[in-house]
Amino acid sequence: MSTSEPWVVVGLDNGGTSNNATVLGESGTFLVDALHETPSRVQDGPEAAIDALAEAFDGVLAHTSLGRSLVRAVGLDTPGPASALGVISSKGSTNFQQPGWWGFDVRTALENRLAIPVVYNNDGNAAALYAHHLLYGLDATQHSSVSAIIGTGLGGGVVEAGQVVRGAAGMAGELGHVHIPMDGLLAEGQPVPRCGCGFVGDAESVASLTGIEKNLLPYWLTRFEGHPLAELPVRQAARAVRGYGEAGDPLALRIFEQQAMAVGRLFTIAANFTDPSTYFVGGGVVEAAPAFRDWFLDEVRKNTLLRAEQEAVATFALVPDRDMAGARGAAIAALVGTRPA
Ligand SMILES: [Zn+2]
Repeated sequence: MSTSEPWVVVGLDNGGTSNNATVLGESGTFLVDALHETPSRVQDGPEAAIDALAEAFDGVLAHTSLGRSLVRAVGLDTPGPASALGVISSKGSTNFQQPGWWGFDVRTALENRLAIPVVYNNDGNAAALYAHHLLYGLDATQHSSVSAIIGTGLGGGVVEAGQVVRGAAGMAGELGHVHIPMDGLLAEGQPVPRCGCGFVGDAESVASLTGIEKNLLPYWLTRFEGHPLAELPVRQAARAVRGYGEAGDPLALRIFEQQAMAVGRLFTIAANFTDPSTYFVGGGVVEAAPAFRDWFLDEVRKNTLLRAEQEAVATFALVPDRDMAGARGAAIAALVGTRPA
């Protein structure tokens, strides 16, 4: 572990149950090579959660034996929805249900607490930034990418010239809520899927765990009578679909085909918007058995309609290090924002 870095940034990834922390040296080398997790206490409200973030910060510095005077900036990421400057949605969210969180400025609160500049990103954008910088390294500013990360929802981000595209209201890169054509995606008699955001037929309504639970699984169980997943409560069954897919179960494969088709259609839209160098796919599927994971990425590629000129230059890849991508991406954002131009 190097202690010769003249200065460092700290990355803090805030999740529903834990914070993960990392340290990134000025030269771009991570000084922590594994998860460094502590309880996030977000359910106890903002005050307890800011304490927990400060403890995560102190803990990771103690772990690396670095003094806080070396820390030039802190990168923070949380689940959304939140503004580009880290104000949690006034309607709250899955992770931030306590009224104390509604409209809470988590970035400023942490900055005041630590007395160090804090750079904010939502978790999807942080992971997208990490994937981009890991792939391109020093050439990161020469490339663009789009990342679709399939979890409870469909997160991700758009990176242009090495920087996250934020948008006027901080709502750029909300890929899950982009409408996609459903023609040829839905099977006969399959209802048009509905998203938790209120849209009908957006990418997340298909390509997310929630989409499996609310839309895909209930339909496909009617087509595979007597399937063992029908015996489980639907939430539990939805979580079990991936294991069935890895084992080659026909019902599960139909569900994953539809998800790959949805992501491919989303990427087809991206191809005509920002024409990225790389299309990243992330989420639980990254941890799946290699044969299944490769099949899924290939299905996404087949469903992404690129022009010949784009085919020649575009690549498809996985968002790596699922558990550490958030903290590492948050740290990269702090480093990129701190380096002299
Ligand atoms: Zn939606």
